[in-house]
Amino acid sequence: MTVHTPAPAVGTAPAEGPILMAAEGTAAFESHPRATTDPAARAAASTDRSGYEPATVPDAVVHAESADDVVAALRLAHEHRIPVVPRGAGTGLAGGASAHAGEVVVDVSRMNRILSIDPVEMIAVVEPGVLNAEVNAAAAEHGLFYAPDPASTAICSIGGNIATNAGGMWCAKYGVTRESVLGLRVVLPDGRIVSTGRRTIKGVTGYDLNALFIGSEGTLGIVVEATLRLRPRPVRTETLAAYFDDVEAAGRAASAITAARIQPSILELMDGPTLDAVDRAEGTHHRALGGAFLLAQTDGYGAHLELDAIAEAIAPFATSVHRAADTAEAEALVKARRDAIPSLEQLGRVSIGDIAVPRDRLAEAFKGLEEIAARTGVRIFSVAHAADGNLHPMIVVDPSESITEGPAKAALGEMFRLAKRVGGTLTGEHGVGLLKREWVREELGDTSLELQRAIRDVFDPEHILNRGKAL
Ligand SMILES: Cc1cc2nc3c(=O)[nH]c(=O)nc-3n(C[C@H](O)[C@H](O)[C@H](O)COP(=O)(O)OP(=O)(O)OC[C@H]3O[C@@H](n4cnc5c(N)ncnc54)[C@H](O)[C@@H]3O)c2cc1C
Repeated sequence: MTVHTPAPAVGTAPAEGPILMAAEGTAAFESHPRATTDPAARAAASTDRSGYEPATVPDAVVHAESADDVVAALRLAHEHRIPVVPRGAGTGLAGGASAHAGEVVVDVSRMNRILSIDPVEMIAVVEPGVLNAEVNAAAAEHGLFYAPDPASTAICSIGGNIATNAGGMWCAKYGVTRESVLGLRVVLPDGRIVSTGRRTIKGVTGYDLNALFIGSEGTLGIVVEATLRLRPRPVRTETLAAYFDDVEAAGRAASAITAARIQPSILELMDGPTLDAVDRAEGTHHRALGGAFLLAQTDGYGAHLELDAIAEAIAPFATSVHRAADTAEAEALVKARRDAIPSLEQLGRVSIGDIAVPRDRLAEAFKGLEEIAARTGVRIFSVAHAADGNLHPMIVVDPSESITEGPAKAALGEMFRLAKRVGGTLTGEHGVGLLKREWVREELGDTSLELQRAIRDVFDPEHILNRGKAL
């Protein structure tokens, strides 16, 4: 391997704590069989889908093919105090997988085997680089499914999902990633391996390290294997799309479903500007039907009865309600929601907010977002996992403009304050990463933040993993 020694550069890894790294230390990775300094590989591993563009690229990339490769990489990093960025599929939206000069990326996307599926226990054991949709395709052969299904299901990895505690459409009913991961094998920052959790549905021996790793954004260890809980595929699903004059009416309708104690398996909302973008990209005609769209799906033996109840709850707010006649129509409606982010990416550089608010305050949150757009002059498009109160306000700027400064950054800050004002949180599922770190203390408070940083120090006293991110 030829080793590149980076020039001191603008945009190097975010400084935090003692600077332990000497750029020359990267030479240590010469001995790693899967390391490369190929410029194209380093550029490809420098960023994610957050719209953030680092000014520099990492020094090297390790394309791990086994847990042993990860162990070897972290032993080297530990010995030479080299900061490491774990990487899955690079679809993250918080800059969590972004990497700079002075850092080495450990990319686990080639560790992509489904190791086993036990259809009786309803468990899958997988490597971290397996794509979310691939787990579902394999589970489907046994009449099962894996519930946390981000809109990025076809392109994101299970390891990344675990690191961000990803959510998705079915999480309305089945919970987020944390509710579907039974056990993990993790390589710690010093190269030791730890197993967490179990294969059983219940189990309370010891502290719940499994839950701690899930959502820790790659700051505590690198996941090299996961034991996932699968669920029986529903015997029946029913789907409807409702249209509204505006997004506030759609927000009120979503809150009415929660208030009526009905449990949809999917409840997704898109505002008018997002519908316009999807129509333009996909040749569909949703915008002509209304200024906001609510997609509801129910499942199980009583799916049709639950959908009746949803239709009744939203009737006072909707201008029209369409029940999908067959699976093809239902899939087309679900696809419209999955197309939202890629459609907006065609309009410019996208920065995606991820606030979560109490479910009875959705309409208020949408109104607040419109006010933020008017005040800051940025274009904001909104979609939401409405059953979870999780909004994704998306700021779209010209590709020449930055999302980390100027009006886009001001709008992101205002979104956080809006969430806080209505009793919500900074990030529902994408994580803090690099881009939301400055608001963390305000939400967590001094005591909680200090406690969490102390926990991080136990696992990674030298801050080798994802330095300057998450906390
Ligand atoms: C079109 C689109 C739609 C999306 N929709 C959703 C959605 O509905 N719900 C949702 O939650 N997210 C969504 N996302 C965001 C993204 O797909 C998720 O955050 C996903 O979980 C990231 O997985 P990844 O494999 O791409 O991780 P990466 O981007 O590679 O990494 C994400 C974070 O995880 C860490 N990491 C990755 N692998 C490991 C590992 N093996 N061990 C330890 N740490 C690791 C990285 O260091 C980084 O901090 C969407 C993104 C796009 C582009």
